[in-house]
Amino acid sequence: MSKLLHSGVSAILSTDRRTTLKTFAAASIASFLPSYVKARNHSDVIVIGAGLSGLYSATILQDEGYKVTVLEADSRVGGRVLSQTNIPGNPETGGTAFGSGYARIIDISNRFNIKLNDLSPILPYFRKQELVLDDELIRMNEWADHPKNVLPEAMKAMPPNAFFHQLLGNNNPIKTPGGWMNPKHFMHDISVHDWLTQQGYKQELIDLVYNMNITHGYNAKDVSVLMLMFVNAFASSQSRLGFRTSLSAEGGNMVIPEAMANNLDQQVHFNKSVNAIETYSNKAKVSCEDGSVYEADHVICSLPFSVLKNIDIRPSVQGLQAEAINNLRSQKINMLHVVPKSPFWENDGMSPNLYTNGLSGMMIANRHVNTPDQVDSFTIWLRGPIAEKLDRMNQREAILSVIKSIEEIRPSTKNVLEPFAYHSWSLSRFSNGDWAYWSPGQISKFGSSVGNQHGQIHFCGEHTAVSNRGMEGAMESGERVAIEIMGL
Ligand SMILES: Cc1cc2nc3c(=O)[nH]c(=O)nc-3n(C[C@H](O)[C@H](O)[C@H](O)COP(=O)(O)OP(=O)(O)OC[C@H]3O[C@@H](n4cnc5c(N)ncnc54)[C@H](O)[C@@H]3O)c2cc1C
Repeated sequence: MSKLLHSGVSAILSTDRRTTLKTFAAASIASFLPSYVKARNHSDVIVIGAGLSGLYSATILQDEGYKVTVLEADSRVGGRVLSQTNIPGNPETGGTAFGSGYARIIDISNRFNIKLNDLSPILPYFRKQELVLDDELIRMNEWADHPKNVLPEAMKAMPPNAFFHQLLGNNNPIKTPGGWMNPKHFMHDISVHDWLTQQGYKQELIDLVYNMNITHGYNAKDVSVLMLMFVNAFASSQSRLGFRTSLSAEGGNMVIPEAMANNLDQQVHFNKSVNAIETYSNKAKVSCEDGSVYEADHVICSLPFSVLKNIDIRPSVQGLQAEAINNLRSQKINMLHVVPKSPFWENDGMSPNLYTNGLSGMMIANRHVNTPDQVDSFTIWLRGPIAEKLDRMNQREAILSVIKSIEEIRPSTKNVLEPFAYHSWSLSRFSNGDWAYWSPGQISKFGSSVGNQHGQIHFCGEHTAVSNRGMEGAMESGERVAIEIMGL
């Protein structure tokens, strides 16, 4: 579709659009608009949020001749894409890597001449992670016979996290990513816990293969396995189509939203925290905390529901969509970046990576794509209950607790890990968590309502994506709302 939008069709659309705008102007706007409109900035479209979805919708609409204003609460663009450019190698605090089948991300990167790095050379290093259970470091060659290994006999040599992915992949009824929204699959809108229990697996195994370093949900009971089937179908379809490479942008993934923002005719308006949206028959008004007010024919709202639920929308959103806004949850995740003062892994002869069920979560060495032996920094992924626990501490205490827990497991790291950056996505008020996750029963109940247009308000964001995940899901949703507005 993005190809279509950049082709001759777009020229026709732009001409029609300009004609419409001229006719509209000739009819003397001032004579019939409500008084609040006369005094204020007017655009064709206001986009709330300068993350990938908002900026992509703005890019498409501007290409089609629309006047677009982007309002961003933060002082930077990117939202949940955030690269640490002050740390060697520009490690990612948000959107980390994407597949070679992320068509829209790749298309926009090519358009703005962004170099993409193939991460294939470092993936084998990433997969080597030392397992730590209850503070005991267990080498992979000891794992199969370890008393804590409750995996089925034939799979005992497998790392715990690989087991669930394999089980789901082998039993996934959803063959195309969008299939998760098909009512015939709603029977799978049950918890991961129930799905595993139905197959005879016990709590001990569920804790080992799902609840440790949880990627979706708070625990296996509050996440729908149908959502995980979507995640799995998305990944499998990418590799079935031959897209097996992982990529990231040279200079950090943040260059992608930055390039889209720089291309806009009208600069992104920063520090504009929207607190109210009103929609009328053919106009909408957006108010910000600083008292500024903007109007447009359409509003695109890219806010995660965890943030949107605190915004005053008038008339209010009703029914299942309102239920979704109030109840769709966001993943708890904190990211800690540390730089090693010396290569401690050479001293203890183990992989630098750790996969633990303790406070240090998952610790991954960031390597150079061209010289994978070189480790610049580490990213420590702290998810679910770990993130929640750390969020109850002040930042210094949280960072020191994580580092201390690593030092206790692995004495070679003592006084070697220097913290450089720490970010709690849940405590950040403009994200209030990370990717949306669906609890049991939510997909069948309000899955098809989340992205509904409400008056002149169009909702996008990764949580409204149907066929793609993560960064590409955000782009898919930005494209959808742009198309909605163009009336295609
Ligand atoms: C740790 C982490 C790792 C990830 N890893 C990957 C990965 O490897 N691959 C992948 O594909 N995806 C990954 N993702 C997910 C991906 O980054 C997101 O899905 C995507 O960036 C979301 O984009 P969005 O436009 O939907 O939302 P956002 O980026 O959240 O954009 C919303 C914007 O709205 C702004 N905003 C909020 N409140 C207001 C307000 N009141 N007024 C005005 N503006 C407001 C925010 O500041 C933000 O800029 C990861 C995310 C995180 C955090």
